[in-house]
Amino acid sequence: MIEIEVIQGDITKLAVDAIVNAANCSLLGGGGVDGAIHRAAGPELLRACIPLNGCETGKAKITPGFRLSAKFVIHTPGPVYRDGQHGEPALLESCYKSCLDLAEESGCETVAFPAISCGVYGYPWEAATEIAVKTVRDFPAQKVRKVIFCCFSADMARIYREVTAKAS
Ligand code: ADP
Repeated sequence: MIEIEVIQGDITKLAVDAIVNAANCSLLGGGGVDGAIHRAAGPELLRACIPLNGCETGKAKITPGFRLSAKFVIHTPGPVYRDGQHGEPALLESCYKSCLDLAEESGCETVAFPAISCGVYGYPWEAATEIAVKTVRDFPAQKVRKVIFCCFSADMARIYREVTAKAS
């Protein structure tokens, strides 16, 4: 079973095998955590993303981490939240699964996730957290041994801590 750790901080600083980028479908950078990751990784990251030709919501693509401490960046576009009745939960679950599948294929042992879709994409925090935690817990990992949920705010970290405590 994957070990889960919740931290509050900046995901671009983490020395893990892979950090996950809450990207948009263009994979060409954006605001929020996406912008922070591109700034910290350097322009090589954008050059590596251009030939990937974008990514569908719920899927994932991997690049090197370039100037980051992380070896890889796994880019996944989360769903834009409308009302929860447009497939958002299944798409969000698929983001976490697709990222873990790619991490496994690339031999990653440690993976850090931001709160996918919980920024400008508007997913309600607690519902998103429950999906994140459940999907990681249920994942049949071979290589990945640790997932860090890296929360930018203290409020988000509190929700992750509550949800991980409740579900364990
Ligand atoms: P989305 O478009 O998927 O909603 P955002 O980047 O707007 O993505 O937000 C996703 C989450 O990432 C939010 O909880 C936001 O606070 C958080 N975030 C923003 N910058 C960072 C960072 N440097 N490290 C970790 N999390 C971050």
